[in-house]
Amino acid sequence: MATIQTIKGFADLFTPRSDLYTFMEDTARRVFGAYGYRELRLPLLEHTELFQRSIGAETDVVQKEMYTFEDRKGRSLTLRPEATAGAVRAYIENSCHARESVSRFFAYGPMFRYERPQKGRMRQFHQLDCECFGTHEPQVDAEMLLMLMFFLKEIGLDNLTPELNTLGCKECRPAYQDALTAFLRRIDPQTLCEDCRRRMESSPMRVLDCKVPSCKEQTLDAPRIREHVCPECSEHFNAVLGILDKRGMPYTINPRLVRGLDYYCRTTFEIVSSSIGAQGSVAGGGRYDGLVRQLGGPDVPAVGFACGMERLALMLEEKAAGQARPRPDFYFAVLAADAADTALLAAQTLRESGLAGEMSFEYKSLKSQLRQASRTNAEYCLIMGEAELAIQSVVVKHMDSGDQATLPLLTLRDWAGIRAEQKLEKGRKGGYR
Ligand SMILES: [Zn+2]
Ligand SMILES: [Zn+2]
Repeated sequence: MATIQTIKGFADLFTPRSDLYTFMEDTARRVFGAYGYRELRLPLLEHTELFQRSIGAETDVVQKEMYTFEDRKGRSLTLRPEATAGAVRAYIENSCHARESVSRFFAYGPMFRYERPQKGRMRQFHQLDCECFGTHEPQVDAEMLLMLMFFLKEIGLDNLTPELNTLGCKECRPAYQDALTAFLRRIDPQTLCEDCRRRMESSPMRVLDCKVPSCKEQTLDAPRIREHVCPECSEHFNAVLGILDKRGMPYTINPRLVRGLDYYCRTTFEIVSSSIGAQGSVAGGGRYDGLVRQLGGPDVPAVGFACGMERLALMLEEKAAGQARPRPDFYFAVLAADAADTALLAAQTLRESGLAGEMSFEYKSLKSQLRQASRTNAEYCLIMGEAELAIQSVVVKHMDSGDQATLPLLTLRDWAGIRAEQKLEKGRKGGYR
């Protein structure tokens, strides 16, 4: 019979890659939690209409890239292509604005897009996501950027720089778009790509982020939105930048950083790698003050970001090549079947005392079990055979130094307690183990 394989673009994540995801999620919980962000677990499946109304029915994501299907009752459902729409839906549906003036959420998990799979881009991919509802203040935008950069530093990535732009607001953007359209109409249409010729009238700002070289070249002198926004938007943007300046955080202002949809406004940002050779952004976000109302909620401002975990994992793997692997406290080698039950209960004691490790039920030779112990990178190998069982004791061997001692089983809990305390003292903080 033919074996069953995963769906194209969907991956199984084994250790050590899955360890990286756990590490990123744990760090996110710690860092974002330190700013008052609470975890929001959202459904993977939503009504298709949610994404049509939030991301926009005209976008590539909605038109070509969604996993959409009908359920048994003929309702159109979609596997979420991103998290913000669901977070806004949940915020409105649960009347969060009535309970608190400001709500901070973080979420993480799989997202789905029907794209051509390639390195670092899968049809099921993973994102970390933060959303803050309820405040217009530029301080929140800056706090979010500082938090995101702090998170990236905590997972061990410090060669990243934020790029920022302002998108103005619904008061000042139309005039800018008119100025931009007027500029674009003066360009020889033959020098622009087909997409840009179409966008020129419908969504002129999107022309600015076209990656086609001739389009880029033609728009070098395009009017810059920062010079066209209203005094309030200008003040808002300067306040965000002022905080980054006070903090001494390097950043770039990128006038080509735009979003295609109307509800995005004011601060928009991406985090890009500043190391040579790497390209693309690891995270993107900004203000979307109009979305909550657009989806039928109150007029509540919001700011958020999404961070691609596959890209982070690739960068961490490149960086951590050859670095230390996760280190279990023990490997329990059982040499005789008779000793198995006693050893199993001894290992249970070790775990209840705060240590971690696996035990072997294979009763192979000591030599081959020690080899297995070092393969797991355990700090200690505990050994129990007929001789140890007879005197109710266990041999404890330190794998790095080779030092070993025989401990009575009765003292094992104390021994494990001391080890666990030392482990805590060393702390689990810091980069990827
Ligand atoms: Zn404005
Ligand atoms: Zn173009």
